[in-house]
Amino acid sequence: MPLLQNHIAVITGAGSGIGRAIAKGYASEGARVVLLDMNEQAAASVAGEIRDAGGKAESFLLDVTKREDCVAIARRVADKIGQVSILVNNAGIARRNGMLGAAEAVINDWEDIIAINLTGVFNVTHAFLEPLRAAKGRIVNIGSIQSFVHLKTPSSPAYTASKHGVLGFTKALAAELGKDGVRVNAIGPGFIETPLNEKVRASNPALAKVFVDHTPLGRAGTAEDIVGPAVFLASDLSAYVSGSIVMVDGGYRTV
Ligand code: NAP
Repeated sequence: MPLLQNHIAVITGAGSGIGRAIAKGYASEGARVVLLDMNEQAAASVAGEIRDAGGKAESFLLDVTKREDCVAIARRVADKIGQVSILVNNAGIARRNGMLGAAEAVINDWEDIIAINLTGVFNVTHAFLEPLRAAKGRIVNIGSIQSFVHLKTPSSPAYTASKHGVLGFTKALAAELGKDGVRVNAIGPGFIETPLNEKVRASNPALAKVFVDHTPLGRAGTAEDIVGPAVFLASDLSAYVSGSIVMVDGGYRTV
């Protein structure tokens, strides 16, 4: 039997990169997937690809920073589709500016990154909490190698803080919701080639090389590399796993 049969899975930021790959992977394991993205067209197009391949998929516009919209979407999904049992908090942005740039840019980065990468995770989780508790559901949060600090490769304090926050939120929620049978885990991707870093890879190949040189497996990751661990954490294969972060980084964090 497919690993996610009879599950309804919501994935944020599902129109691109890692979210797109997870949505397709979950659908091919039998889940009915609900793709949310602020890029409505991209999410609709991925949902169409999934349906064309015989899967079950719907898509909705959602900006995860808008708390009331998250609540409204959760209601719409409950009414139109059913009880959500899996939530993947994946929507995120990355910028690699340090703290020493022009004040306006530094403040702007902080506000945008924390609003999307951290408060967005809170907003969507809070909105879907009721069905997730009722279903003894599973939450998978997308952290990063920046859920830890590294000297070798640069990241902005805002991005690093947001991904530390995602890991902290994961652990706190696992502790609180365990008694309801809800499991909460994170994935820590390493350097994954997606549209998120397309511009940086093109304009700064030396930076991409620093990441790859520091990765024991000697290559950048692909969005598909995240799918197996994401299926594992959403399925009964991980029935006794909660509060963990599974690093999917080619070994980056071990060296
Ligand atoms: P991506 O290809 O840029 O996909 C992210 C998706 O999220 C895009 O469709 C984006 O829409 C959407 N999004 C952005 N802000 C949103 C918002 N406020 N509300 C709803 N959707 C929003 O990026 P990715 O590489 O797949 O990244 C996915 C997650 O993995 C992020 O949390 C990222 O931090 C994390 N991650 C990525 C890497 C990596 O190397 N790629 C490494 C570690 C962690 P737009 O395209 O319209 O912006």
